[in-house]
Amino acid sequence: MSFNTLGLSDALLRAIDKKGYTTPSPIQEKAIPPILERKDVLASAQTGTGKTAGFTLPVLQILSQGQKLRKRPVRALVLTPTRELAAQILDNVKAYSEFLDLRSMVIFGGVNAKPQIRALRNGIDILVATPGRLLDLHSQKALSLANIEILILDEADRMLDMGFQRDINKILNLLPSKRQNLLFSATFSKEIKQLANGILHNPVWVEATPQNTTAEKIDQKIYRVDQKRKSELIIKFITEGDWKQVLVFTRTKHGANRLSQKMVKNGITAAAIHGNKSQGARTKALGGFKKGTIRVLVATDIAARGLDIPLLPHVVNYELPNISEDYVHRIGRTGRAGASGQAISLVSQDEISYVRGIEKLLGEKLQSEIVEGFEPTLISENTNSERNNKSRSSKPKGNSRNYNRRRRTKK
Ligand code: AMP
Repeated sequence: MSFNTLGLSDALLRAIDKKGYTTPSPIQEKAIPPILERKDVLASAQTGTGKTAGFTLPVLQILSQGQKLRKRPVRALVLTPTRELAAQILDNVKAYSEFLDLRSMVIFGGVNAKPQIRALRNGIDILVATPGRLLDLHSQKALSLANIEILILDEADRMLDMGFQRDINKILNLLPSKRQNLLFSATFSKEIKQLANGILHNPVWVEATPQNTTAEKIDQKIYRVDQKRKSELIIKFITEGDWKQVLVFTRTKHGANRLSQKMVKNGITAAAIHGNKSQGARTKALGGFKKGTIRVLVATDIAARGLDIPLLPHVVNYELPNISEDYVHRIGRTGRAGASGQAISLVSQDEISYVRGIEKLLGEKLQSEIVEGFEPTLISENTNSERNNKSRSSKPKGNSRNYNRRRRTKK
């Protein structure tokens, strides 16, 4: 299948060609035609599937064909949970609209609102926004949402996770009732279904599993280790394996800061990325990571969500997420676009129950190992297989008797 058959205009095909895409991804193939037919669409797709182009291309086509209003009020609104994702979507919109007479911009919090207000005054066709700043600027009368023809909710599940439900409801009340609605979400909880039911009219369902959830491409492994030894172990992996580009997930913002500082102390260039960091710091960290000047990016789930980091060789779960689906999102950042990648998880005793949940979701058992010198002090009943799996170098040393005794007393 080629892009020519999807009904896109020459100006868009030129922009696609310039991007170097030759064939549409499955989500693009499925979502573009119904969007062009002005239908509401409910899409199950996560980052890495090409979903951004999946909604941006047809929306640009619709807007370029429609009538331009004199003051250029916003006609398409993309709502998205994080600043980084908003900025990335705008990059896409700009690239695909290069040969069209359409104006686009992004607004998000954490930066000065004045330049955003000034730019909005000149007229904008497509606005990409995070919910809080959008409501803020609307209340300051910096923009009108009365002419929205298309509403796109991107990463809707994450918006609900981040507590944007009320903001979304407020925004919906500001929009004209007659409009086209597109909702993209990686997961479909009861709450997402309710949100979709309240917004979409007879939606077309489209679904895409990302290339990267095909687990064969990702070498997944668990290392059992005590929480307090995790930083030492990860530093060992990175230095001894000479890992160049590593994305590490921690559960908390403080944990991300602490780990990144420890890496730097050990001579590894690292930066933390999370919600408490200024926008400038986050952009700088991500830029350095993509360029290769920062070797390790330590992130929380929310900050990392939606980041487009192609071909990542290593993803490390410093702590496992308590939501199994987040594990799939995290490891989906390695082995992208058909390249193989390695996803490892450092698992302490209190995280064992998360492993079970993840294995259930994946439908497979994860390979588990213990590294010599990093034997966990508390061993669960499930260590038999791990002990058999131990790599040659990972036999318990002098403390192996304690190790066995503890196991016996446990029984
Ligand atoms: P997304 O899921 O929208 O974040 O896109 C993931 C990555 O795939 C981005 O780097 C896009 O530039 C890229 N991409 C999107 N569509 C295509 C396509 N049809 N062919 C190749 N790469 C694509």
